[in-house]
Amino acid sequence: MGKINESLKKARKIVIKIGSNTLAKADGTQNTEFMAEFAEQCAELIKQGKQIILVSSGAQVAGVSTTKEWARKKDVHYRQALCAIGQVELMHQWRKAFQKQDLHIGQLLLTKDDFKNEHRSLNIRNTLFTLVDEGVVPIINENDSVSFDEIKIGDNDNLSALTAILWSADLLILFSDIDGVYSDNPKTNPDAKLIESVDNIPELRKSIKIGDTNAFGTGGMETKIQAAEKVTEYGIEMLLANGGKEKALTGLLEENAKGTVFKTEL
Ligand code: GLU
Repeated sequence: MGKINESLKKARKIVIKIGSNTLAKADGTQNTEFMAEFAEQCAELIKQGKQIILVSSGAQVAGVSTTKEWARKKDVHYRQALCAIGQVELMHQWRKAFQKQDLHIGQLLLTKDDFKNEHRSLNIRNTLFTLVDEGVVPIINENDSVSFDEIKIGDNDNLSALTAILWSADLLILFSDIDGVYSDNPKTNPDAKLIESVDNIPELRKSIKIGDTNAFGTGGMETKIQAAEKVTEYGIEMLLANGGKEKALTGLLEENAKGTVFKTEL
């Protein structure tokens, strides 16, 4: 039985993805208190000798929260423009949060093409290694203002999985607004059960109901399972946990931490 706290304890190189729902408050504005607390928890893990790369969603939400009047624009050009506006705002808040911890951040905006191209992925890998070796926290998002359908990864769950593989991480943590994988949608079915450990993803797929995407993000459960399929194939464990809890990250080191561990056979 895979224990969450053991997975985090033994991991040294960790990619952490934070979804838009976790980064936005219910009214759609940026949750800067969450970001400040999260940066503090990252600093705590870094002091313990761990290395961290963040994959942060939330550009579009931040764009909407900045411009306000564009909130209902669904047109793709507006959405890309919103991401261009929001990405600056997002990184501004992350910089403030990490500055309090005396940590620098670096931004990488990536597309699917970047991972397919050998030369570009080598450059990304080198940049990530250099930043982390120098104690800087890289923060990655999809380059939404240049990605259109053909070169779009589309969701940061898969982007964080590709990043974990490229950087040879030990662990990928996806923070979402639910505790982990449930047998059914816990928001609509009170009998839904949390599945704490998964070592057979095809079997998991057969045994659960996979719902639609969530409120602000683009992912939903399907993309989280796709991310797990990608990383476990490379011997990287994945944790799915609730980012909305107090001490969401460092709390995973506790004995009774809740979430789903996707185990690897390696
Ligand atoms: N890259 C998008 C953003 O920052 C989010 C993608 C996702 O929700 O997975 O708004």
